[in-house]
Amino acid sequence: MLHKSPFTVPPPPPDVNIHHVFFNRPEQVDWPDFTYYIDAATDKRQTYKGFVAKVKASISALGMPILEGGLGFEVGDIIGIMSENSMDYPVVVHALLALAIPFSLIPAYSTHFELLHAFRLSKITRLFVQPEYLRAALAVAKDVNLPAERIYIIGRNVKKYQGLDNMVERVQKANIPILSPRPATTDTLAYLVFSSGTSGPPKAVMITHGNLIYSVSQLIIVAQERMKVEQPPTPSTPEGIPISLGFLPFHHSYGLHAFCFRNILAPSTVVILSKWNLEVALKVVPKYRITTLNLIPSVVHQLVNHPKFPKTNLSSVTTVGCGAAHLVPELASQFSSFVNNVPLGEGYGLSECTIAALIQPFPGLFEGKAKRYPGCAGILLPGMEARIVREDGSDANTNEVGELYLKGFNVCKGYWNNEKANQEAFVNGWLRTGDMFRADAEGNFFFADRAKDTLKVSGTQVSPVEIEEVLLTQPDKLIEDVTVAGVQGHGRTSDEKVPRAWIVLSKVGKAKGAPTVIKALEEWHHQNLSKYKWLRGGFEVVEEIPKSPTGKVLRRVLVDLYDQRLKKM
Ligand code: AMP
Repeated sequence: MLHKSPFTVPPPPPDVNIHHVFFNRPEQVDWPDFTYYIDAATDKRQTYKGFVAKVKASISALGMPILEGGLGFEVGDIIGIMSENSMDYPVVVHALLALAIPFSLIPAYSTHFELLHAFRLSKITRLFVQPEYLRAALAVAKDVNLPAERIYIIGRNVKKYQGLDNMVERVQKANIPILSPRPATTDTLAYLVFSSGTSGPPKAVMITHGNLIYSVSQLIIVAQERMKVEQPPTPSTPEGIPISLGFLPFHHSYGLHAFCFRNILAPSTVVILSKWNLEVALKVVPKYRITTLNLIPSVVHQLVNHPKFPKTNLSSVTTVGCGAAHLVPELASQFSSFVNNVPLGEGYGLSECTIAALIQPFPGLFEGKAKRYPGCAGILLPGMEARIVREDGSDANTNEVGELYLKGFNVCKGYWNNEKANQEAFVNGWLRTGDMFRADAEGNFFFADRAKDTLKVSGTQVSPVEIEEVLLTQPDKLIEDVTVAGVQGHGRTSDEKVPRAWIVLSKVGKAKGAPTVIKALEEWHHQNLSKYKWLRGGFEVVEEIPKSPTGKVLRRVLVDLYDQRLKKM
């Protein structure tokens, strides 16, 4: 059965640079200046007008030819951004969008192994890096032949390097003219964001200017429907505008859209945390009278279980959203009971859909016909179509669980330079999500399970294949085969799966003995993989990895055996 969104369908995206949609909105002309960003660590502030001026100066600084005082960024460049959250991150992002030069969102804390993959995959020609990660960036730059003079600093100035602040200052002092945004079509690549998709190693999702324009249109239609049934009360904040806590990483779709894009559409303030820190967050919420929290389930779980949480003054919080992984309904209601009974609005999305696909209906929507159900991931966003598909490719019945397929102008064009992954992910124009859902007769979608091999740990994707690759490249050749899969029982939330490795010892490995091999592999994968990918589910030595006659690894067999043993304990 074909499911269509109940909202008005937005028009197809025009051939326009997304910059105009973000910065040339008629209503923006009348906005008074307001605090746009606050850095929670230093209390440094950026006003809205200051931010716009810095973006404009950065467009010239990056895009002007070198002879005219700029850096000469050109079409064909791909700019890596390797930084924790900061006030300058969105400046670089918006300047590059205006120049129609794509950027690649690189998690700054990555290991050398992960960075090499990210740099090579996205074919980075220039890089913006936070000073704290410069050494790591230089090591990778050397391996991929990226010259040091193509590395720029985001944040405080560093000797011998061009920094964003120096560049902006130069443009402003020398009265270098402001460059106009370059034209873009719907298919112009805006950025690359990493995703593991349904299987295999991390891939770069291509998000275009058209995808971004459409996702803004979807948001506006939802906001218009909301305005029909509720006028938002003026928040009791110093400037009477909402204040959100920006701790989700800007290198991930959720953080990027919530704190670099959506906040340009209506006056609001974002208090930036460079990264998640529970103790700091509990101080910052009452200090700045945060009104809006964008959360992920593992953070909800941490908050609810922290002794200081019930004692924290959360009276300012009026809006709470949660996404990136399934939210267990009991956890949602437990959280709400601490936070002024504000309902936790779950959303479902994936990088391949630009940001979201399902949202929670709000009271009164469609004359009250759309309702919120506990455990429901929501209804389709404007313009989106969905199917729930059985294993044989036929459509499932109402309330029957199957794989969610999606269509819409916010669905990405595909993976960057990866035809094989594109063929697997797209079937007759439909995106296969790898997520199992059921849909009821009213078009409410309920998450059932992840059918894909890839895992979500603390809201971040983990590719078992990437971990297998790291284990197999341990230099002492201690194992001859390995498979990694997600197991329950060690995660942050009750339903979170974490990776576990089943290994077959090599001759060398057998001679050294299992405990020595496991110790060596533990150290090796800690050196090469970011912490959230570590094998919290442990290691297990097996005689062989079960495979189908066609050679497909039967991960499920190993996971089931493990689950049965766990239940008996
Ligand atoms: P990412 O591309 O990193 O945003 O990850 C997308 C994946 O996160 C989806 O394919 C789902 O597996 C998972 N996900 C996101 N939101 C939800 C949700 N509300 N419920 C269940 N899974 C979710």
